[in-house]
Parts: sequence; C-alpha cells; structure tokens
Amino acid sequence: MELDRILTRLADVARALTQADAAAVYLLEEDAARLTRAAFSGPSAAPGLREPIEVNTRSLDKEALAGRPVIVQDAHTDPQALNVPGDYRSILCIPLLHQTAPCGTLHVYAARPGQFGADDAARLAPLADLGAALIASARALESLTALEAGKARFIQVTTHELRSPVSVAQSLVRGVLKGYAGALTEKQADIFERISRRLDGLENLINDLLDLAAGKAPQLAEQEGPVLLNASVGRAVVLLQPRAEEKGLDLRLQPCREPLMVWGTEEGLDRILTNLVSNAVKYTPSGSVTVTVRRLADQAQVTVTDTGIGIPEEALPHLFEEFYRAPNAKALNEVGTGLGLAIVKDLVERYKGRIEVNSAVGQGSTFTVTFPLLHLDEQSDYN
Ligand code: ADP
Repeated sequence: MELDRILTRLADVARALTQADAAAVYLLEEDAARLTRAAFSGPSAAPGLREPIEVNTRSLDKEALAGRPVIVQDAHTDPQALNVPGDYRSILCIPLLHQTAPCGTLHVYAARPGQFGADDAARLAPLADLGAALIASARALESLTALEAGKARFIQVTTHELRSPVSVAQSLVRGVLKGYAGALTEKQADIFERISRRLDGLENLINDLLDLAAGKAPQLAEQEGPVLLNASVGRAVVLLQPRAEEKGLDLRLQPCREPLMVWGTEEGLDRILTNLVSNAVKYTPSGSVTVTVRRLADQAQVTVTDTGIGIPEEALPHLFEEFYRAPNAKALNEVGTGLGLAIVKDLVERYKGRIEVNSAVGQGSTFTVTFPLLHLDEQSDYN
C-alpha cells in the first residue's frame, strides 16, 4: 500500500519535472529477468499491459538497467522503442539504482518527437535516486511486517497447543486439593497449592501470549470499526469489582454522560481497559482505584488512578517492553507476566491513540489513554 503511493507520487513528480505527457515506473522482479509496471501518471488510463515483461524483449529498459539513461527521439523510427506500450513519440528511460543495484526504471513520455534531452535526464537523476531509496525502505518495511506476522502466528499456534494440557493439569490439581483423590496431609496440600499457583501463572502467560499474538494479527484490522468507549470502561470496572472488594479496595467509576465513539474493536478496547484496571487493583495493597472517562475537545480520555505501590522512575522507560516487570512489582506476591502493558500499547497505537503514565513510588500511579473521537461521517478515513 505504502509502496504503491510512493511509486505513483514518483511518476507524478517525474512527469511534472520534465513537462511530459505521461510517466511510468517499472520494478524489476527478484529474478532480475522481468519488469512489472507498478505506477502510471498520465491524462488517461495507463496504456498497455500490466503483465510482467521480459527485460530481454525491451532494449530500452535493458540499456537503462545497465546504469545509463536512454533517450528515444522518435518511437516510430527508433528500434529501441520496441514493445513500449502507448502511442508516444518521445521517451526518456532512466534507471532506478539503489546503492548501484538496479531495482527498476522510470519512463517519461511525450506525444511529440524530440521532446527530451540530456538536461531532462540530469533533472530526473536525483528524483530517481530518491525514488530507489524509498522503494528499498518500503520493501524492507514490508518484509519486517511479514516477519512480525510470522512470529505472531508461531506464538499463536504453539501457545494454543499448550493451553489445553495446562488447563487439564490445573483442573486435576484442583480436584486433588478438594479431596477427590482422598485426604491430603498438610505437606501434600502445601505442595499441590504451590503447583496450582504455578499453573495459574502458566495459564496467565498463555493467555497473554495469545493476546499479544492476536493484537499483531493482520486479520484483526478487518474487524475494526467505531466502538463505544464508555461501554468497555464499564465492563472492565464490573469485571474487576469482585477482586477489588476481596482486597478491600474502593474501585470507582466516574463515567462520562456523552457517548464516546472511538476506532477499534470491542474485544481490543476491553483488553486495554481490563488490563489497566486489573493492574491498578493488583498493584494497590490498600486504598482506592478511580477510573475516569472524559471528553476533551475531539478526544476521548480514560484515566486509571490508584493509590498503590507506584513505579520506580528507572522502570518507567521499560514499562511497555514485553516481559518487563519492575522490581517492586516482582517483590509482591502477585502473579504477572510482564506482557499486559505491551499488549495494551500495541492495541492503543493500532487504534490511533496514545498511552501515558505518571507515577511515584509508594504513592500510586495514573495511566491515561487518549483516543481520537470519531464522528460517524469520519469512519472512512480509518479504513
Ligand atoms: P504484569 O503481568 O507484571 O502486571 P504488565 O505488562 O501489565 O505486566 O505491567 C508491567 C509492569 O508495570 C508490572 O510488572 C509493574 O511493574 C508495572 N505496573 C503496571 N501497572 C502498574 C500499577 N498500576 N502500579 C504499579 N506498577 C504497575
């Protein structure tokens, strides 16, 4: 997508710079034997085929790929113009070279013969260099994205396979603890309790890894649309209320009366808010957790404030890294994987929002997420 935009812009600028009637960008395929037209700029639809063409059948491009610009003064008489689509008389073809390696060609066309000279070739050279560098970076980005998706798929498959044996083991251990296999000595009960806690930790890790992989899965983007933020915040607070009560915490919601529509998926927003509220409850031994929803001009904002253990200053830059846990959190007897905030950040950025944290050790923390507010007529901008 990004590459398409770059190439179309490249053709447009080349056309304007040389006052040509049309321009086209051809990209060399990996085997270096074929070229595909990747962009066209002209008054009407692009002439000719979009099928890949053999470099050997187009002496114009073959020459240019060797590193030299080629000027055709009249396509009706110059044999180099053979197999160039369209009815243009003048053609200038220059190479797209990235660090001396050819990655394609840039063509400009004019209806009248003799339009292009060496000065046009010189004018296009810096544009071609810039274009080739942009093509190389867009391709590198595409392969990185594919690598990231591959990693996410791998995590998804392996953790999915782990999930059922772990939950079977957990229910067996719980059965033993309830006495289904006979009475346990104190020591046996203690050992099984410890196994059960470890399995809890493993289940958390599996769920977080699956969330992390799902957040990176490209297919999620197709399910995105306008979602009501207020509803997700409400669900997160209701979900965590029993846990807060167990700990004697005052978990409070300060809602916003106005419906706040943001971009995302219901599942994704629920994950973000549940993670933040659950962390606040988890890392607050006593006191309160307050969740506030508000509208700020064209933004929707949620703050989760707690009176908990706080975050050491040196831990703040690492907070959103996968598997990072601050030392004061590790010292608490609370299960954690260090993946929750990495998942939250991924999702918030996916929905064009941002997340900030303010904290002081021993005093508490405030996590703030802000999303652009969506007016229903703006939806299409996000697709
Ligand atoms: P974890 O599974 O450890 O909770 P997260 O990714 O959700 O992992 O959070 C990463 C770390 O950020 C935590 O281990 C903890 O050190 C810190 N943290 C997150 N939320 C809070 C909070 N509300 N109060 C104090 N520390 C927090």
